[in-house]
Amino acid sequence: MGAITMAEVGIDARRFFHPQQETMPRERLAALQLARLNATLANAYANVPVQRKRLDAAGIGAGRIERLADVARLPFSVKTDLRDHYPFGMFARKSPDLARLHASSGTTGKPTVVGYTQNDLDHWSELMARSLFAAGARRGDVIHNAYGYGLFTGGLGAHAGAERLGGVVVPVSGGSTERQVALIVDFGARVLCATPSYALAIAEVAEQQGVDLRRSALAVGMFGAEPWSAAMRREIESRLGLRAVDIYGLSEIMGPGVACECERQDGLHGWEDHFLFEVIDPDTGKPLPEGEAGELVITTLTKQALPMIRYRTRDITRLARERCGCGRTHLRIRRITGRNDDMLIIRGVNVYPSQIEAVLVGLPGLAPHYQLVLERHGSLDALTVEVEAASGEGLFSEIQKHVSHHIKSRVGVTATVVVKQPGEVPRSQGKAVRVRDLRPKVT
Ligand SMILES: [Zn+2]
Repeated sequence: MGAITMAEVGIDARRFFHPQQETMPRERLAALQLARLNATLANAYANVPVQRKRLDAAGIGAGRIERLADVARLPFSVKTDLRDHYPFGMFARKSPDLARLHASSGTTGKPTVVGYTQNDLDHWSELMARSLFAAGARRGDVIHNAYGYGLFTGGLGAHAGAERLGGVVVPVSGGSTERQVALIVDFGARVLCATPSYALAIAEVAEQQGVDLRRSALAVGMFGAEPWSAAMRREIESRLGLRAVDIYGLSEIMGPGVACECERQDGLHGWEDHFLFEVIDPDTGKPLPEGEAGELVITTLTKQALPMIRYRTRDITRLARERCGCGRTHLRIRRITGRNDDMLIIRGVNVYPSQIEAVLVGLPGLAPHYQLVLERHGSLDALTVEVEAASGEGLFSEIQKHVSHHIKSRVGVTATVVVKQPGEVPRSQGKAVRVRDLRPKVT
């Protein structure tokens, strides 16, 4: 290893943040993954009693895995593991070896707590910097970070990566949208980090203030933490005048920066030197052949504090291993259509909010804001789609007919469409509320 320089194989190192790692030939990447997987298993076995029990039950024990394909023999981890073993039962390190804790808000029951060693935090900032660079951010850029700071991993994750990259970080967090617009303009932000719904809220407030952000320095938008459609991407790009790039992460695995699109915007490069990605059939748990859609499963390969073995993300996607035109060898995760948990079953039809979004965004006469309201009428689910007219002028009854026809023909469900006046659909202050489920809770 290392005998051939990158110049000799025609790779321009300036196009990558970590040229060696990002362009590593697949065989070497696979060998690295296998070695790191075994180190992860050893860490989990030695330090996490829950994992030790599971590895013993799976017949692996403290043994080694000989081939990557044998990962299918390993037990799964799920989100409830973190709640069931609250707060630190899944951790492989204790204080003083821990450097930080994050936690989810926990809408039901206990929050999920995740922990990091200093080494974990270093890897996280490296991967986040790598992601920012892949998206088009560069050293010296003013990076406006509108992800929420605090226990949520978005704000601090993006912050550390932006610093590692050598950017000028503006730690704005969410909210006070009018002030955000002024800061973007006055500080000359070139990069905007936010949820896609909040990026749109910024665009709208700017337009109301008569500020044309398309003429600002903004060039790169790094948007994640909620699923969004290709139609929403085009909408944001045209209103903010930037390239909108999709970033993916989840706190159980690390936080933002697990995967990110490159400038080609053709799927998210999953950083395979730190994570092992699989797609399984969500019903049977069996691995699916390359390219088929299923549930994304991730194993961490370098995490010390919280090694995750085959974590079921509930996100539905496909993996592509063919080489990307950018020169990176790491596989690509196709845009995530939705999380299994977000899937609505409406009269037997599976519907993701993002599918409805794809129909709505870009339809003439509509503003790109919407909410889905679910109710139960007798024994049947009823879906109401609240959309917003682009102006108070148009014929709402025409818009209503048009939208309901498109939802029926493209998503396959019958929805009652309610057209609201401009500004009536609530705006995102961070994470968008796409669904209001008013159905009685089953207890
Ligand atoms: Zn690429």
